[in-house]
Amino acid sequence: MARIKNELSWSRTRISTFETCPRAYYYQYYLKWGGWNWDAPDDSRQAYFFTKMTNIPMLVGLGVHETIRDMLRSVRDTGRCTIENPADHVRRNILSKVWRDAKKELWRKSAKNHPPVFELYYGSAPSPEELKRAGAHAARCIENFAKSELFRELQNEEHRRWLAVDEEPSFDESSKLKLDDRTIWALPDFAREKDGHCEIWDWKTGRRSPHDQAQLLSYALYARDRWGYAPDRIRLMAFYLADDEIGEYPCNAEELAAIETKIRDDFLRMEELLEDKENNIPLKDVERAFPMIENGPACENCFYKELCGRGRYAGPPASP
Ligand code: SF4
Repeated sequence: MARIKNELSWSRTRISTFETCPRAYYYQYYLKWGGWNWDAPDDSRQAYFFTKMTNIPMLVGLGVHETIRDMLRSVRDTGRCTIENPADHVRRNILSKVWRDAKKELWRKSAKNHPPVFELYYGSAPSPEELKRAGAHAARCIENFAKSELFRELQNEEHRRWLAVDEEPSFDESSKLKLDDRTIWALPDFAREKDGHCEIWDWKTGRRSPHDQAQLLSYALYARDRWGYAPDRIRLMAFYLADDEIGEYPCNAEELAAIETKIRDDFLRMEELLEDKENNIPLKDVERAFPMIENGPACENCFYKELCGRGRYAGPPASP
């Protein structure tokens, strides 16, 4: 099997980690590399373990995305939605399952298959009421999607015009999105052709954010370069599921040129922390090149805080 190379690539998540804390960025994109091997150094294995961690808001997001993906794929593949009671599906089959497994600390067997949950690991588990609220939030997102005009339309249209339903990223070089020969990870939640346009959708479980447009524009690069749509024939839509609102963001040649400039700048900033740009090898002096940030809210919520000494495993939960 071909060895996967640790290449310098761009994604919204990567650049957000880079801008939040250089040390966390180092853990997530360099130290963890190879940490899945049984004979990897301890710190590398630990870093890999923390990359598998999740937290309650991420669990809600994942549960909602997976449920909508399954609803849409069943419509595409069978002609009807075969997920019975999808709101209950997200609560029972995804949120409760991951939470229960994490409480039993099944991550000791495999963090990849049973991710550790931040709130349990670091001892800030929410009350049963807060947990119920998170479940209700996920269910509301799914209910709003299931009763939306969009979902009604999707169930009744020609599915061969669908371009993507939450596809898995491909590591095959020929199908990667590239900018100046560098990889960009940007895959839309859903895309279809409608009235000669490519319509790209992003499912949002949180509130509107100033980063939403940039994220959608990175998907537009995919639509332009991989599917061949002209910039003014791409529509960028975000469905704010909890608030049952749809936002549309502008897409044209200028917007795409601006996001490309931004991504090039991001690559330059990330490259400054490399000793060997060709092989994506980071500078050796980690303390100086990847400094810790001042202790604050970002540290409180950081998955890697045990690695840098600002947090500790809280011990097993009282009732498994
Ligand atoms: S705890 Fe703070 S300093 Fe340490 S890696 Fe996380 S964000 Fe950075």
